[in-house]
Amino acid sequence: MVAMDARERTGWVVAKAEELGFDLCGVAPPGRFPELGQMAEWLERGHAGEMRYLHDPRRQSLDLALEGIRSVIVCAASYKTPEPLSTQALARPDAERPRGWISRYGWGDDYHDVLLPRLRALVDAMRGAFGVDFRSRAYVDTGPVAERVAAKYAGLGWLGKNTCLINRNMGSWIFLGAVVTTLELEPTLAEGQPPPPDLCGSCRRCIDACPTGALVEPYVLDARRCIAYLTIELRGPIPEEFRPAIGQMVFGCDICQDVCPWNGKAPLARLAEFRPRQLTSETRRGDSPCGDVPAAGHQAGDARVGAAGEPDSLFAPELEWLAGLDETEYRRVFRKNPVKRAKWRGLVRNAAVALGNSELTPATRRRVAPLLERLAASADPLIAEHARWALERMAANR
Ligand code: SF4
Ligand code: SF4
Repeated sequence: MVAMDARERTGWVVAKAEELGFDLCGVAPPGRFPELGQMAEWLERGHAGEMRYLHDPRRQSLDLALEGIRSVIVCAASYKTPEPLSTQALARPDAERPRGWISRYGWGDDYHDVLLPRLRALVDAMRGAFGVDFRSRAYVDTGPVAERVAAKYAGLGWLGKNTCLINRNMGSWIFLGAVVTTLELEPTLAEGQPPPPDLCGSCRRCIDACPTGALVEPYVLDARRCIAYLTIELRGPIPEEFRPAIGQMVFGCDICQDVCPWNGKAPLARLAEFRPRQLTSETRRGDSPCGDVPAAGHQAGDARVGAAGEPDSLFAPELEWLAGLDETEYRRVFRKNPVKRAKWRGLVRNAAVALGNSELTPATRRRVAPLLERLAASADPLIAEHARWALERMAANR
């Protein structure tokens, strides 16, 4: 163990984070950054919808995340995979086998499960290497830390007009994790050095492409209009005014990132866990020897679909399969996968809406109608109401 000063420790942490699989790492000082101050107004405008956890006052200053905090380590890992964009895959709808879209980050393993152990391993390695006493907490989207803002002040990128953190090399398909600590580390940005410049320029592709007008101003998201919120966070009925615009999205939405030019040339993810999870016949039957969903495999290109409609991966799965999943199958397929956040009834609700939005051949309509009628008779009023809406929309579009 060699005694290191704050600057040497930061260099060591960044190198170790890369060794552990992260693509980017930086250190921010704790503080009340301007973006955190603007949060109160954003909340007051009601833009957070039902996401009560965003009202935690500790989110408005990094100083409050941990008593005695001196540094915030921010790590980022890409989840960019070679599969087509939603804007490409959904541009040619399949009227015989309508497909839904699961957001890119939902294809593989749950990012919490992938990144938190790596952050904890980083902290363990720091304890071993530095030989000094410190306290710390690690968060991946799970605590009172605005990782995006910390990432900006750790020098990792800028906050784009679509509100995502964008790194000029890695784009915005990146997961962020943070370690707040009482350990003194040298911030990545020298005192007085500004964070990376905003390279959005005059571009407004994300704002123009958003189907629900959720980017109400550049850099301002009204979550209540955002498809990611409507299909994942919202537990009750989806407001009817947004249902048609949701299109084929069943879990999240990638559009404002798909159109962003900074994602085009970004390199692919190093971590295989974020590639589309393969759904083996064992997984579908549930007779896997360990009762577990197997580790993610890699499948480039389009999803292959079995005779019974079960997809081989979570890339653009068939809507009829999704809408027909029972709770047991749902839990099996989405175990340790981000889609579980939507819950079974939320995903079936979303699949019904997407079926109602799909262009279908007459033969497909005849096949889909009994499925929707079965859902419309569900004891769950949420599922039943959305299925009735889908049937009405299907009839109106005939
Ligand atoms: Fe709009 Fe989709 Fe981006 Fe939400 S995720 S802001 S709905 S484009
Ligand atoms: Fe910025 Fe354009 Fe990307 Fe939107 S699409 S975040 S405006 S670069």
